[in-house]
Amino acid sequence: MTEMTISSTPRPRGVPSEETIYTVGDFVRRVVGSLLQGGGYRGKFLCSPCLVKLTRDHLDKSYSLVEVGWAMDEVFKGPGAITLLPTAVCALCARKKLMPCLGVPLP
Ligand SMILES: [Zn+2]
Repeated sequence: MTEMTISSTPRPRGVPSEETIYTVGDFVRRVVGSLLQGGGYRGKFLCSPCLVKLTRDHLDKSYSLVEVGWAMDEVFKGPGAITLLPTAVCALCARKKLMPCLGVPLP
Protein backbone atom coordinates (compact mmCIF):
# COMPACT_ATOMS: atom_id res chain seq x y z
CA MET A 1 0.00 0.00 0.00
CA THR A 2 2.26 2.78 -1.21
CA GLU A 3 -0.06 4.55 -3.64
CA MET A 4 -1.21 7.94 -2.42
CA THR A 5 -2.62 9.35 -5.63
CA ILE A 6 -6.30 9.51 -4.75
CA SER A 7 -6.32 13.08 -3.51
CA SER A 8 -4.25 14.38 -6.42
CA THR A 9 -6.13 12.76 -9.32
CA PRO A 10 -6.25 15.34 -12.11
CA ARG A 11 -9.64 16.34 -13.47
CA PRO A 12 -10.18 14.58 -16.82
CA ARG A 13 -10.30 16.88 -19.81
CA GLY A 14 -13.65 17.46 -21.48
CA VAL A 15 -15.63 17.15 -18.26
CA PRO A 16 -17.73 20.26 -17.61
CA SER A 17 -16.59 22.21 -14.59
CA GLU A 18 -18.73 22.23 -11.49
CA GLU A 19 -19.28 25.91 -12.04
CA THR A 20 -21.06 25.34 -15.36
CA ILE A 21 -23.32 22.68 -13.88
CA TYR A 22 -24.09 24.91 -10.93
CA THR A 23 -25.09 27.80 -13.15
CA VAL A 24 -27.59 25.83 -15.26
CA GLY A 25 -28.87 24.01 -12.19
CA ASP A 26 -29.28 27.28 -10.35
CA PHE A 27 -31.38 28.77 -13.15
CA VAL A 28 -33.47 25.62 -13.47
CA ARG A 29 -34.07 25.44 -9.73
CA ARG A 30 -35.16 29.07 -9.66
CA VAL A 31 -37.55 28.67 -12.60
CA VAL A 32 -39.04 25.47 -11.16
CA GLY A 33 -39.50 27.16 -7.80
CA SER A 34 -41.24 30.19 -9.29
CA LEU A 35 -43.46 28.04 -11.53
CA LEU A 36 -44.59 25.83 -8.66
CA GLN A 37 -44.82 28.50 -5.97
CA GLY A 38 -46.15 31.49 -7.84
CA GLY A 39 -47.05 30.55 -11.38
CA GLY A 40 -50.17 28.83 -12.61
CA TYR A 41 -49.02 25.58 -11.07
CA ARG A 42 -49.38 26.47 -7.40
CA GLY A 43 -50.48 23.40 -5.43
CA LYS A 44 -50.03 21.15 -8.46
CA PHE A 45 -47.48 18.41 -8.94
CA LEU A 46 -45.68 17.99 -12.25
CA CYS A 47 -43.48 15.24 -13.65
CA SER A 48 -39.92 15.71 -14.82
CA PRO A 49 -40.61 15.77 -18.62
CA CYS A 50 -43.27 18.47 -18.20
CA LEU A 51 -41.06 20.52 -15.88
CA VAL A 52 -38.15 20.26 -18.31
CA LYS A 53 -40.35 21.59 -21.14
CA LEU A 54 -41.86 24.40 -19.06
CA THR A 55 -38.52 25.40 -17.60
CA ARG A 56 -36.86 25.53 -20.97
CA ASP A 57 -39.56 27.92 -22.22
CA HIS A 58 -38.49 30.29 -19.44
CA LEU A 59 -34.76 30.00 -20.05
CA ASP A 60 -32.44 31.39 -22.65
CA LYS A 61 -32.59 29.44 -25.92
CA SER A 62 -28.92 28.55 -25.56
CA TYR A 63 -29.79 25.88 -23.03
CA SER A 64 -30.54 22.53 -24.62
CA LEU A 65 -33.27 20.19 -23.43
CA VAL A 66 -30.52 17.76 -22.43
CA GLU A 67 -28.82 20.34 -20.21
CA VAL A 68 -32.11 21.32 -18.61
CA GLY A 69 -32.88 17.62 -18.15
CA TRP A 70 -29.60 17.03 -16.30
CA ALA A 71 -30.25 19.99 -14.07
CA MET A 72 -33.80 18.76 -13.46
CA ASP A 73 -32.38 15.40 -12.32
CA GLU A 74 -30.41 17.30 -9.70
CA VAL A 75 -33.52 19.17 -8.55
CA PHE A 76 -35.36 15.85 -8.19
CA LYS A 77 -32.44 14.41 -6.20
CA GLY A 78 -32.33 17.40 -3.87
CA PRO A 79 -35.57 19.36 -4.19
CA GLY A 80 -34.89 21.59 -1.18
CA ALA A 81 -37.93 23.74 -0.44
CA ILE A 82 -39.97 21.96 -3.13
CA THR A 83 -41.86 18.78 -2.21
CA LEU A 84 -41.05 15.58 -4.08
CA LEU A 85 -43.76 12.96 -4.33
CA PRO A 86 -42.16 9.65 -5.38
CA THR A 87 -45.43 8.39 -6.90
CA ALA A 88 -47.95 10.91 -8.18
CA VAL A 89 -50.05 11.71 -11.24
CA CYS A 90 -48.74 14.72 -13.13
CA ALA A 91 -51.26 17.60 -13.15
CA LEU A 92 -50.25 18.65 -16.65
CA CYS A 93 -49.91 15.55 -18.82
CA ALA A 94 -51.98 13.33 -16.48
CA ARG A 95 -50.19 10.19 -17.55
CA LYS A 96 -51.94 7.14 -16.17
CA LYS A 97 -48.62 5.99 -14.78
CA LEU A 98 -47.51 7.09 -11.32
CA MET A 99 -44.17 8.83 -11.40
CA PRO A 100 -42.05 11.16 -9.28
CA CYS A 101 -43.51 14.67 -9.32
CA LEU A 102 -42.44 17.99 -7.84
CA GLY A 103 -44.76 20.57 -6.35
CA VAL A 104 -45.43 22.97 -3.52
CA PRO A 105 -48.51 21.92 -1.51
CA LEU A 106 -51.02 24.62 -0.70
CA PRO A 107 -50.93 25.61 2.98
ZN1 LIG B 1 -46.24 15.59 -16.86
